[in-house]
Amino acid sequence: MIRRRIFTQDHDIFRASVVKWATAEIIPFEADWRRAGQVSRDLWKSAGNQGYLAMHMPEAHGGLALDDFRYDQILAEELAWRSPGFFLSLHNRMVAPYFLHVANAEQQARFVPGITSGDSILAIAMTEPSTGSDLGAIRTRADDHGDHWVLNGSKTFISNGLLADVIVVAARSDPDTPRAIGLFIVERGMPGFTRGDKLEKLGQPSQDTAELFFDDVKIPKSNQLGDAGQGFSYMMRGLAEERLTGSIGFLARAQRGLVPLTFRSLNSFMRPFAQKPRDFSRQAMSGDGAGYRTR
Ligand SMILES: Cc1cc2nc3c(=O)[nH]c(=O)nc-3n(C[C@H](O)[C@H](O)[C@H](O)COP(=O)(O)OP(=O)(O)OC[C@H]3O[C@@H](n4cnc5c(N)ncnc54)[C@H](O)[C@@H]3O)c2cc1C
Repeated sequence: MIRRRIFTQDHDIFRASVVKWATAEIIPFEADWRRAGQVSRDLWKSAGNQGYLAMHMPEAHGGLALDDFRYDQILAEELAWRSPGFFLSLHNRMVAPYFLHVANAEQQARFVPGITSGDSILAIAMTEPSTGSDLGAIRTRADDHGDHWVLNGSKTFISNGLLADVIVVAARSDPDTPRAIGLFIVERGMPGFTRGDKLEKLGQPSQDTAELFFDDVKIPKSNQLGDAGQGFSYMMRGLAEERLTGSIGFLARAQRGLVPLTFRSLNSFMRPFAQKPRDFSRQAMSGDGAGYRTR
């Protein structure tokens, strides 16, 4: 294997602690979570106690002010395959950044301590039953009522949909301007906010992907994130890193599942030629057969 040069000794120590924690806190319970269709809330609290949640947040709000993506990369690599349903990277890198970059000081003080402790599990709701990739076509709308918004519509395929306590919801904020989208913070228990059943998927059995419904949900203006017409550009900023974070998890799972499988298949395929795949790839690539796994 080619050793990756991007990690320092501190990262290696961090990785070892993540592996130790995950071995104790995830592996024994994952089968139960698969049956339950979701991980436990205790797992989120335990991750918060470890300091693994939203590490980039200011220390004043329970974060570590650790703006080094490699630590999040390590979490994604080590947790993605141990519990595909524990969507820590969604919480940490896909939703929490809205509270760092778009939220105002009052919102940060109100929401970030729960985000870093694991008391407030995060989700983001963009996709709708008739709208996937084309975010500009969403129908969920927020109507301005002076001191509050009224939210109506529905979302689907929302990760952490059942466990989430704080959900960033994208909604049209101006009926006359199709691209005007706002981001609104919906909290567990708000009247008019309900959730569907867990959606059955081919994979990630312990991930609570769900539909969300908003029926005249009153959202105080203090739960509006940033400019109510700029949600589209806020989301675009976040989506690039979302792709990166997703890829890290996908690669980790592929390495764990597909590479050994491929090598097993190659082994049986190569046997007639009396050549092990490792030898074969050494010759072919002048390196290790699993060279793309660059740890
Ligand atoms: C397990 C899971 C978890 C999810 N979690 C969340 C979540 O937490 N929050 C959330 O908001 N959403 C979530 N989603 C929704 C996800 O973001 C959407 O599935 C995604 O945006 C694609 O939308 P779609 O499935 O409707 O596909 P479509 O938009 O119908 O696209 C289908 C295919 O067509 C391609 N395509 C679409 N438009 C074009 C075009 N103009 N040109 C070329 N190709 C095009 C797409 O690339 C894709 O390959 C989740 C989905 C899944 C499956």
